Amino acid sequence: MGKIIAIANQKGGVGKTTTCVNLCAALSETGARILMCDMDPQGNATTGIGIDKNKEAHNIYNVLIDGVDATGVIVKTPYGDVLPSNRILSGAGVELVMMEGREFVLRNVLSNVRDNYDYILVDCPPSLEMLTLNSLCAADTVLIPVQCEYFVLEGLTDLVSTIRMIKKSLNPSLEIEGVLLTMYDSRTNFSSQVAAEVKKFFKQKTYNVAIPRNVRLAEAPAMESQSSDTTGRRADRLRIWNSQRSF
Ligand code: ATP
Ligand code: MG
Repeated sequence: MGKIIAIANQKGGVGKTTTCVNLCAALSETGARILMCDMDPQGNATTGIGIDKNKEAHNIYNVLIDGVDATGVIVKTPYGDVLPSNRILSGAGVELVMMEGREFVLRNVLSNVRDNYDYILVDCPPSLEMLTLNSLCAADTVLIPVQCEYFVLEGLTDLVSTIRMIKKSLNPSLEIEGVLLTMYDSRTNFSSQVAAEVKKFFKQKTYNVAIPRNVRLAEAPAMESQSSDTTGRRADRLRIWNSQRSF
């Protein structure tokens, strides 16, 4: 039974999707069976992994809302299987609210396919609304990418209290997988100050390896065939994987 890891932080642009797609690619390279579930209407993870998000007949919206069987919607890629998303998913939040067992719709969907995978990675949108709530209710653990920036802990307290609330009432076994510092700039004192602050708050849950600010990694794996620096990108991706050996 595959482990379900939600990649979440309600703050936008902190590296959730970059972490998700690179982790999918890195884990696939180790031979693990991977499903990436894109729960963000922006569909950046879908695009990043090389799928034309507007060309698929069905996507995660149809699975969640119309009850379409997930196995027929999953797209196979060299970086793992994908439940794709696109803009249509933005309507799902409101529709989910009206459904019975609204917090557990994704959990039920994934329970039908999780035996086929070693890991299921769920890319969450930058909010704490229904789509993220469904992701956190489906997940075994939550991986929190944190960008090295000012006032970093302010935004994280909301996320941590949401996780606590979900653990108390909806998904008692939910745990924090780890906290990943992203866009770390080792040349500045600032990044190390932020890292120290995050480590003080999350203690051993903070990964020792931070992800450096690095344009190669910001490119999607799907761009790799067009990139001249495949080896460098693979090394960066492995760094993400190595930072999370504890899986
Ligand atoms: P959103 O909240 O909108 O879903 P996100 O948290 O998923 O955003 P990403 O889309 O992964 O964040 O990253 C935001 C931007 O930062 C993107 O343009 C991405 O290419 C860039 N980026 C991510 N990680 C790095 C990095 N380590 N170095 C440089 N740029 C990065
Ligand atoms: Mg994203």
